Amino acid sequence: MERAVNFEEIFEKDILHYADSSKFCSVGFGGQFEWLILPKTSQDFCEYISFLNNKQTPYKVLGNMTNIIPQDGLMKGIFVSTKLIKEPPKVVGNRIIANAGASLFEVCKVALEHELGGIEKLCGIPGTVGGAIFNNAGAFGTEIANVLESVLVIDGLEMKSLPVADLGLNYRTSNFKTNKQIILSATFMLHSSNKNDIISTMRECAKKRSQTQPQAASAGSVFKRTALGAAGMLLDKCGLKGKTCGGAEISKKHANFVINNGGATCQDYKTLVKLATDTVWQNFGIELEREVEYLGENNESNSRLSHT
Ligand SMILES: Cc1cc2nc3c(=O)[nH]c(=O)nc-3n(C[C@H](O)[C@H](O)[C@H](O)COP(=O)(O)OP(=O)(O)OC[C@H]3O[C@@H](n4cnc5c(N)ncnc54)[C@H](O)[C@@H]3O)c2cc1C
Repeated sequence: MERAVNFEEIFEKDILHYADSSKFCSVGFGGQFEWLILPKTSQDFCEYISFLNNKQTPYKVLGNMTNIIPQDGLMKGIFVSTKLIKEPPKVVGNRIIANAGASLFEVCKVALEHELGGIEKLCGIPGTVGGAIFNNAGAFGTEIANVLESVLVIDGLEMKSLPVADLGLNYRTSNFKTNKQIILSATFMLHSSNKNDIISTMRECAKKRSQTQPQAASAGSVFKRTALGAAGMLLDKCGLKGKTCGGAEISKKHANFVINNGGATCQDYKTLVKLATDTVWQNFGIELEREVEYLGENNESNSRLSHT
């Protein structure tokens, strides 16, 4: 029989055992990651994923953890986050090549420095390149699909470059939600612009965000847009703004944000999500679809996204 893998030995410098998710996830609550691997370079990230795939060990890749809701208690299994990989994106002509762990903010900053336009409206999304592609993140009428040219992925034991047309990018979704590919890096195709125009768009977007969105800890919009319009508008019409459960609250500023006012638990968050879902269903006959991802629920995400 093969000896069990000793993760602490293999990932020695980059592994945490029983890591507190509230310190890593933007919602600021949750239980513990049984194993959390935090590579500091994209080369280590690639080697760790190859190793795990080779050993057929299930794991879940995470970015900056700004779209996930970690469960209370122990989240069993291996989680690999790219959030500590700090390598500056490279510029080649009108293209920017960024590793999966680069923040969208960093990519937008480099685009500004090189007077490359097209991506500036995504500047305020707090995720990584990998997480943003996974969800086809978007804001103010621009989404990742509009600026992405190709991605480099690991698919099992193979590395592949895929053009954007093959990624199934649609409103807050992509093929990555159902396949087992891991994003290593991305190439964005931008256009020549000028610093003043880019800065003014960035400022306008930042202003709109601060006017309409809460500052407190959250995972961004809870629900996707509906056939009747923005989920926040429906929730507002149902009078749900300001409803609380424990330390969680449906934001008084924006009804599609559930915030952590301090001491919230995953259960508090889910209770409000259920209240919102049920109330909108009763009032409008619309089934709200979640944009945030519940993590570690019955270890479901681990087994569903197990990579071989
Ligand atoms: C204050 C706030 C504002 C926000 N505003 C917006 C907004 O305007 N628009 C918007 O679209 N979103 C918004 N979000 C949500 C979130 O920031 C985005 O969905 C973001 O793209 C998630 O990136 P992440 O790196 O945090 O991913 P994570 O939350 O860590 O992970 C999200 C998913 O991506 C997968 N993933 C991550 N990296 C990889 C990889 N390398 N390979 C394969 N899969 C991977 C994970 O498995 C997971 O399923 C907001 C969130 C907050 C907290």
